[in-house]
Amino acid sequence: MMINNHLKQQLETLNLKYREQAPLSAFTTFQLGGLCPFLVECETLSQLRQAVSLFRAERQPFILLGGGSNVVAADEGIEHPVIRYRSSVPVISRNGNALTAAAGTLLDDLVQYTIKEGLSGMAFASGIPGTVGGAVVGNAGAFGRQMSDVVTAVNILDEAGKEMTLPREACGFDYRHSRLKETGQIVASAVFELEPGDPPTLEAERQDILAQRRDKHPDYKNVPCAGSFFKNLPPSAPGERRQAAGWFLDQAGAKDLRSGGAAVFPKHANIIIKADASCSARDVFDLSEKMAARVKEQFNIILSREVRFLGPIPAGDASRRFW
Ligand SMILES: Cc1cc2nc3c(=O)[nH]c(=O)nc-3n(C[C@H](O)[C@H](O)[C@H](O)COP(=O)(O)OP(=O)(O)OC[C@H]3O[C@@H](n4cnc5c(N)ncnc54)[C@H](O)[C@@H]3O)c2cc1C
Repeated sequence: MMINNHLKQQLETLNLKYREQAPLSAFTTFQLGGLCPFLVECETLSQLRQAVSLFRAERQPFILLGGGSNVVAADEGIEHPVIRYRSSVPVISRNGNALTAAAGTLLDDLVQYTIKEGLSGMAFASGIPGTVGGAVVGNAGAFGRQMSDVVTAVNILDEAGKEMTLPREACGFDYRHSRLKETGQIVASAVFELEPGDPPTLEAERQDILAQRRDKHPDYKNVPCAGSFFKNLPPSAPGERRQAAGWFLDQAGAKDLRSGGAAVFPKHANIIIKADASCSARDVFDLSEKMAARVKEQFNIILSREVRFLGPIPAGDASRRFW
């Protein structure tokens, strides 16, 4: 796809950093994927606003990325340019027990801020990679809690680039899902309502969670992955917890499966890892199909993916194409 020169000039005028033919492997925790024609890196909300306004004014479709920790980018690369919004410095303001965090803030930076400020309710998110924006859109969660338990409002960028506030009820939150995921609306910031808490107690809770995560999850910087690959299943009875997809995968022998350079993490049957440098997005897709087939065969259960594919799904199944 050609990016028009006018757009480039305007980005340059606004001092917005962009790269042409950017490798998606450098912007995703799976470290997979070919090139995107153009990638704009936004550190701040005002840069995001400017970039989005320019792209919209030029009628240039784009894909938004945060930390790239919930996606698999296609080996062939993607057709559309990417706007990436991820901030190395957290942007958070406090008003009583409510916090507003810019969407580019790293989720774990927000958790640490809540603890320092003596606010309870977000320790569950300790160690979840990615940004506040990505976490809100996917309703990220762990240990029985999720973003929608603490989010009270989401500020999105409307078509004109202005911020519009959506109350929680308008976001259509569900398990690892929100309506924002379907509409493609851009999260500028989110508001969280928390409870007063004791910093040392909260820090102990955080350290406990981080220890549990270290025990079960790969360190994605050394073992590239995108966390849990499939969604957990609905509870077997009302009031019970969701059933771990990992349990079914484990029982079905998924840990022994492999496709090319993609393997299942030995300590967690629901995590696919890039086991060696030869691993492609296609390997990950093929392995996920084999894993799902095993669970279907053994339990007659259909697993659905939590991780999103960027670009054409390798098997060319248009009905499951993500972008
Ligand atoms: C080791 C590891 C452990 C993980 N553990 C967990 C876990 O315990 N629980 C859990 O829920 N997830 C987990 N994940 C998955 C992932 O970290 C979360 O889903 C995270 O919230 C994704 O955020 P991101 O910024 O990386 O989103 P991306 O991967 O960059 O994007 C994901 C989606 O969100 C959209 N998006 C991103 N930013 C915005 C924005 N500002 N506005 C609108 N849309 C946006 C993108 O367009 C895309 O559709 C884990 C991942 C890894 C690698």
